[in-house]
Amino acid sequence: MPDFGAAHWYPQGPMRSGKPSPAGRFVQCQGCKKTLFATDFEANFKVCPYCSHHHRLNWSERIAYTFDEDSFQEMDADLVSSDPLAFPDYKPKHDAARSKTGMEDSVACGIARLIDMPVSVAVSDFHFMGGSMGSVAGEKVTRTLERGCDMRCPVIIFCASGGARMQEGLVSLMQMAKTTAAVERCRSHGIPYISVFTDPTMAGVLASYASVADVILAEPKALVGFAGARVSKQAQVVKAPDDFQQAEWVLRSGMLDRIVERRDMRSTLGELVRMLGAHLRQGAAVVA
Ligand SMILES: [Zn+2]
Repeated sequence: MPDFGAAHWYPQGPMRSGKPSPAGRFVQCQGCKKTLFATDFEANFKVCPYCSHHHRLNWSERIAYTFDEDSFQEMDADLVSSDPLAFPDYKPKHDAARSKTGMEDSVACGIARLIDMPVSVAVSDFHFMGGSMGSVAGEKVTRTLERGCDMRCPVIIFCASGGARMQEGLVSLMQMAKTTAAVERCRSHGIPYISVFTDPTMAGVLASYASVADVILAEPKALVGFAGARVSKQAQVVKAPDDFQQAEWVLRSGMLDRIVERRDMRSTLGELVRMLGAHLRQGAAVVA
């Protein structure tokens, strides 16, 4: 599994006892700042047992926590952005993200099994340039949705993105239309599509494929919104509460179907796939 900056979690200085922290044994919760045993933290799906803060996952952790063991087959992993606008400093930033994460772009996609049922899957990784959607991320999401149609299996997409990638300008914005058209294709083929908002799901991603799923789930306290909080508040006629971009408020506003704790995500998705995809499993073997 690639290392996505795990050192961030470890206390950098001496512990309160004055002894240095053995590297890798402890992590600090980003919510309540309590020090946790790394093994307990990992066993609890990187959720703090004290304050329930859901820490961000990389794509491979998300796959491992959600789908059947060793069932994920990655596809389109070699797609790389061509830097269509030759945007200043884009290439070095993109190269740095590639070497940091081991990914070619911010989305990993493929097929997997969920409680022994086939699914077409895409996962955004916030660690790659904020999970931003450029031409490659948009293409992978589109292919994931189309793969669901072609293979007659449900589609699950985990969103974790700050929005469209500014360095690809209009090409990024075009992905909003492209991915949304692919969702419509799923709908016309009777393919269930479930999206999961994780922290954060923002801007052009929220405004395209993320929010037009058949069922929309979110992790607790995930940041969900279109513009940033400061800009949004400036544009509002009525005063919004401070938590107006948190999943709990979004749920109360009717935009989400359910908030699901990470430990329950696999079983919840499994139940949805079992119910919504029942008509697809009758007579058609989909994934080897
Ligand atoms: Zn905590």
